[in-house]
Amino acid sequence: MIRDKILHIKSEIPEIVTLVAVSKTKPESAIEEAYAAGQRVFGENKVQDLVRKYEQLPKDIFWHFIGHLQSNKVKYIAPFIALIHAVDSFKLLEVVNKEAQKNNRVIDCLLQFHIAEEETKFGFSFEEGKAIVSNENFTKLENIRIVGVMGMATYTHNEDQIRKEFKALKAIFTDLQKQFFADKPYFKEISMGMTQDYKIAIEEGSTMIRLGTSLFGQRNY
Ligand SMILES: *Cc1c(COP(=O)(O)O)cnc(C)c1O
Repeated sequence: MIRDKILHIKSEIPEIVTLVAVSKTKPESAIEEAYAAGQRVFGENKVQDLVRKYEQLPKDIFWHFIGHLQSNKVKYIAPFIALIHAVDSFKLLEVVNKEAQKNNRVIDCLLQFHIAEEETKFGFSFEEGKAIVSNENFTKLENIRIVGVMGMATYTHNEDQIRKEFKALKAIFTDLQKQFFADKPYFKEISMGMTQDYKIAIEEGSTMIRLGTSLFGQRNY
């Protein structure tokens, strides 16, 4: 039961950790079940699915975009998106800013960092991330707010490696906070941890875990 899984996970995680229920590929009915159990934060990674679900489901849901976001699709989610987890270029940030402005909003974003060994995962190196926030044009982006960082660990059963990667993301967060966001209390989120590794992520300082399979079961693509 989705309800039992939501309640169970909520009971075992610290209160400061936000549970993002990753409902990608799952039908509206699954989201409604989680919603009935009190869940309000959902993560999706396809713009088209997200827009459809937003239109059909209750309006007090906080929708998070968790995957790679194409610049040309930002306009569809800009009116309602609560958080974009995986900003991986300055260009994307500029587009989000522009679309947020059109909607009279400030859109919260996380910078995605590459912490895994795998080549395929998107994200900045620490140096690239620093270059973004110290770019002279960064402060002109008044309709976005960088509220923290996001990362994905390598898909492996080697817990030491996963832990090492999460530690690296936490260190990046702390460095950026000191150097660029010391006077910005909203810079406080570390989005790390999925079904496989969320317990380690919480031990290493995660403030947001993104769980799909453990709440909704296997995905069928
Ligand atoms: C699919 C996805 C998740 C959820 O993964 P599970 O292993 O099913 O918990 C989390 N984060 C991102 C970025 C995803 O794409």
